Amino acid sequence: MSYDFNEAKEHIVNSYGRLEPVITHGEGVYLYDKDENKYLDFTSGIGVSSLGYGHEKWIKSTSKQLKTLAHASNIFYTEPSVKLAKELTEKANMSKIFFGNSGAEANEGAIKLARKYSYDKYGAGRSTILTLMQSFHGRTITTLKATGQEKFHKYFFPFTEGFDYVKASDLEDFKAKLTDEVCAIMLEAIQGEGGVIPLDKEFVQEVVKICNEKDVLVIFDEVQCGIARTGKMFGYNNFDVEADIVTVAKGLGAGLPIGGILCSSKVADVFKPGDHGSTFGANPVVCAGSLVVLDELCNEKALEKITKRGAYVKELLEEAKNPQIVAVRGIGLMIGIKVKCDPALVQKEAIKRGLLVLTAGKDVVRLLPPLVITKKELKIGLDIILEILSKIEE
Ligand SMILES: *Cc1c(COP(=O)(O)O)cnc(C)c1O
Repeated sequence: MSYDFNEAKEHIVNSYGRLEPVITHGEGVYLYDKDENKYLDFTSGIGVSSLGYGHEKWIKSTSKQLKTLAHASNIFYTEPSVKLAKELTEKANMSKIFFGNSGAEANEGAIKLARKYSYDKYGAGRSTILTLMQSFHGRTITTLKATGQEKFHKYFFPFTEGFDYVKASDLEDFKAKLTDEVCAIMLEAIQGEGGVIPLDKEFVQEVVKICNEKDVLVIFDEVQCGIARTGKMFGYNNFDVEADIVTVAKGLGAGLPIGGILCSSKVADVFKPGDHGSTFGANPVVCAGSLVVLDELCNEKALEKITKRGAYVKELLEEAKNPQIVAVRGIGLMIGIKVKCDPALVQKEAIKRGLLVLTAGKDVVRLLPPLVITKKELKIGLDIILEILSKIEE
């Protein structure tokens, strides 16, 4: 059975600005529609499909687990989740992890964790979480409020209280907002939805230093830029700092839903039985898949390859000296091309030429290709983007 775009529209809530085609299958770094039209994927399902499509080891591991045990309640431990917790905390240099199912859920839990840490130690009244302007942290009522963009603070009143917003990479603004009521700051090392904007290294280092002095927790939202995306285990590893809490999701799942709250020893024992939970969290099939992601991508050789691919993309785009390109930003294979024209137009034209790209903000074409992509495949897509840009009138 296959559906066309308009049939699909009939029964699904219209909460996304959706694009054609309807995707039917994938192989390697390509997606296909029902007519076997082929699309080179520079989106990874928004940073999720880090291993591409049909990755043999991932399929083998998840299928085997599917036949062994698909689910058990969190009143028991299961082997794949314990194994994943061990490997992930070791690679992340963190103490423990809580498993959920999505980025928003991970951030929501991280906010709870930070507030309880502070409540246990200092009592009530120290509950404010600072986030950055132009950030994105999720779609629940609380994570929408944590998101530092006014356009997300509409309709759904009342929102959760206790958030304030700091201008990204502005140390003076951070100091001004850091009152005695603040218990944590949440940061994306590279703001994804906000426009692929890496934070300033000195800013991050200074923020972490001051927070450590004041026992204000540092939460890195690594949902988009974590798990090898930037050529490091986490985006914040590019800044040589330590985190108290790290949230992960997207790329860790490689196609199945997972979210996680990584805890340093400082906060690892804050949640006690009954404080937090998630029915589907730590699903054995999903965890079996994530183990393959760690194995394939979070090792020195793979990370180095991602760094090289990222440098290649930047070099190729910068060398083109295309007048539509204002700047090329990002780290590793998380790339933003700031353009003079409408990025949505580039996205639509790219689909016609068999390439899928993302946008971010009003003026950025965003690239999040699968992390297993080759140089040759990258060049095919970049040439299409440059061709589109060269045809746009100034
Ligand atoms: C996508 C994203 C989220 C939300 O993740 P969901 O899985 O959609 O809930 C949170 N933070 C960042 C940085 C993201 O990119």
